[in-house]
Amino acid sequence: MASMYHSTRSTVKECSAKRAVLDGLAPDGGLYVTDALGTESIDLDQIVAQTYSENAALILKTLLDDYADEEIAACVEAAYGDTFAAPETTPAVKVGDDFVLELFHGPTSAFKDVALQMLPQLMSRAAASTSERIMILAATSGDTGKAALAGFADTPGLGITVFYPHGGTSEIQRLQMVTQHGDNVAVGAVHGNFDDTQSAVKRIFSDEALRERLHEQGVVLSSANSINIGRLAPQVVYYFDAYAQLVRQGAIECGDKVDFCVPTGNFGDVLAGYFALRMGLPVRKLIVASNANNVLTDFLTTGVYDRNRPFHKTISPSMDILISSNLERLLYYMSDGDAELVARLMDDLANTGRYEAPAVMLERIRETFACGFADDDEARTAMKECFDETGYVLDPHTAVAWRVSQRVPKAEGIARVVLSTASPYKFCRDVCAALGLPSDGTDFDCMRALEEKSGMKAPEALASLENAAVRFDDVMDACDMPAYVEGKCGELL
Ligand SMILES: *Cc1c(COP(=O)(O)O)cnc(C)c1O
Repeated sequence: MASMYHSTRSTVKECSAKRAVLDGLAPDGGLYVTDALGTESIDLDQIVAQTYSENAALILKTLLDDYADEEIAACVEAAYGDTFAAPETTPAVKVGDDFVLELFHGPTSAFKDVALQMLPQLMSRAAASTSERIMILAATSGDTGKAALAGFADTPGLGITVFYPHGGTSEIQRLQMVTQHGDNVAVGAVHGNFDDTQSAVKRIFSDEALRERLHEQGVVLSSANSINIGRLAPQVVYYFDAYAQLVRQGAIECGDKVDFCVPTGNFGDVLAGYFALRMGLPVRKLIVASNANNVLTDFLTTGVYDRNRPFHKTISPSMDILISSNLERLLYYMSDGDAELVARLMDDLANTGRYEAPAVMLERIRETFACGFADDDEARTAMKECFDETGYVLDPHTAVAWRVSQRVPKAEGIARVVLSTASPYKFCRDVCAALGLPSDGTDFDCMRALEEKSGMKAPEALASLENAAVRFDDVMDACDMPAYVEGKCGELL
């Protein structure tokens, strides 16, 4: 298929997949979509017979078809060749009656690695056909920053600068970032909270004078956030590959439908499941699991999206989100490509913090999507019960999905896959507390207590942080960030 991309808010201007990967966001503020989605079905027998890397190549080639076969092959090899600690890359493990799809065996022990190991590869090939050098800027409250650093480290033509709020991350998250290797990476701590840091990064993006000076040096600023189609496409792969694993394990026959239950924040992960469905994967239900920030549960129940509500800080921080950006793509597809409608709804959201989907659209969405939420206490109970009953340790994000999955009715003979987005060792203090283990020492004490209780070793990359050398100890005020970025751009080769 010819995958031309255009904005969710206007179908007039089209661009190639490579351009969409370089831009991230469409110029009118919409998200890039392709009308070719679903015009070509993936051959399931072929998926079942192939490795993860082969499946990745097939899916990426279908969605991003202006990349040459050799380019895709090189991207896949660099992203998944030897970076994941599991031979299956993303193993599907039987836990109780269901399956847990472990997406956390990458370098930073969270599922964002699957996309952020690939995005830099796609970007650097897209940039090669221009003469641009690219500096990625990111503000992070912990997880995304490290996954982006690990993905972009030592990628030719690209650099990355990550800012985090000083004292605003967990000790493990901070150590993960400040020990990052690579000649093209930089990490700075900023006085203030996450919002201050993020606002300062946004100001840098809109600083025309700075961008002009950088442009003269041949450097453009870009971001790596989850609305980039180059992050979404790699996530479609593991839905197909999980299905293949279930067939090979004898749990289902090729052609049977399955359910997926997905812990959600920005709606990126579960949207990838919808892409897979449109590309021919037999899916019965996609279950959207939220924590106490349950704006999506309400939307999928009533059709009203309303971000005017209290913000809850939870033990599943990567799901503490009130604006689920990727939902905009679902609105586009569920309205049969009514870009005018999407533009109107997004205007409502920007002006009032609220919008309401037409009844027919809601009905269509609900045919495929189920939903539910679990608060911190329910997530803790899920971690404890699951461990006591099966011996399997869930991280707090996965525990939310596990709990929601238990509440959504199953259909006879339909297998269910719960997506696991982080290693329990990444959030081991909260996991230890939930399992009744000591949780008042250092993060590393918690790690050891959990190892002893579960009999499962912590990922080496996390355990070794205790003695790793710190490379970055810059602490600055928000007003000093532009000069810091400009300095780092000057070092970019
Ligand atoms: C980012 C993240 C999520 C949420 O994923 P979305 O694509 O934003 O829905 C869930 N769990 C963990 C551990 C994450 O890092």
